[in-house]
This record gives sequence, C-alpha cells and structure tokens, in this order.
Amino acid sequence: MPNTRQTDIADVLDVLERILDISEPPVARCRLLSSGFGPSHTLKTEAELTGTRACLGCGNCVDICSLLAREPARLQKTAQRTSLALETMVGTDCDRCYACVMSCPQVDTSIKHYIVKTRTVEQMKHLLERLGPTDDYYLDAFLEEAENG
Ligand code: SF4
Ligand code: SF4
Repeated sequence: MPNTRQTDIADVLDVLERILDISEPPVARCRLLSSGFGPSHTLKTEAELTGTRACLGCGNCVDICSLLAREPARLQKTAQRTSLALETMVGTDCDRCYACVMSCPQVDTSIKHYIVKTRTVEQMKHLLERLGPTDDYYLDAFLEEAENG
C-alpha cells in the first residue's frame, strides 16, 4: 500500500507547478517536496531511513529517462546512478516527460497522481516535438512501457 504520509498537493502547488515547467530533471525537487521514506520499508541497513528525503541511488530515474534512451552517449558522463548524475547527463535538455518522477520510490504518490492528472497530455506533446523523423521506434517503446507499467 502507498505510504500513509503523503504531501498535500495544495501545500506545494505553486512550487510544484514551477518545477514541472522547467526543462531540467524534476525528480530531485519532487523528492524534496515529498514526505520521505516510509516507515514500513524492509531494507536491511544500519542507518535509519524512515523519513529521509535523500536520493537512494537506485538508478530508476536514469534507466527510465526518455532523453538518455534517445541519446545513450550521455550515459558515458558518469557511472553514478543518482538524481545528481541524471542532472549532469540531462542538463537543460530535459524532455519534461516526468518519467523520472514516476519511477522514483522517494516521490509521494500524491505528487505522481497530480502529474498524471494534469500533465500527461502535455508530456506526450513535448515528446513528439523532440522526436526526429527516425525516432518513431522510441515513441512506440515509450507507449508500450506506459501501458504495461
Ligand atoms: S525522465 Fe523525462 S523528465 Fe526526467 S530527466 Fe529524463 S527527460 Fe527529463
Ligand atoms: S529514482 Fe532512485 S536514483 Fe533517482 S532520485 Fe529517486 S531514489 Fe534517487
């Protein structure tokens, strides 16, 4: 079940909208707007993770990034798999597809649902604008992943 603590969108709406309008990876900022690691996790670590908003270094955001999938040479910039690494590799060329936010275990479900409800159509428009004539395969893969995911 989702974490019982969820950021109330009304409390962060203005800043969240600004974050989603910037062409830079939004996942770290959305993570910091979230309520932190849930108390019912089963990770075996010495550190107490409950409540932390830190990047866990899982690499989900790097793996799902639409820009990095289209331009894999950017992955050579760093072997790290953190939100900072994502920012290094993407810079200001972000597609604003929000897939990184959706894939991050540290972003609250309330924020993810808000993005789905308000940004999905715009997200596809941005992707279509950035696709080249030979990039159709990528859109097909993206749609298939969205349907199965
Ligand atoms: S996954 Fe999408 S929103 Fe996130 S950094 Fe990559 S292009 Fe930008
Ligand atoms: S998806 Fe993983 S690596 Fe990316 S910001 Fe979230 S916790 Fe960090």
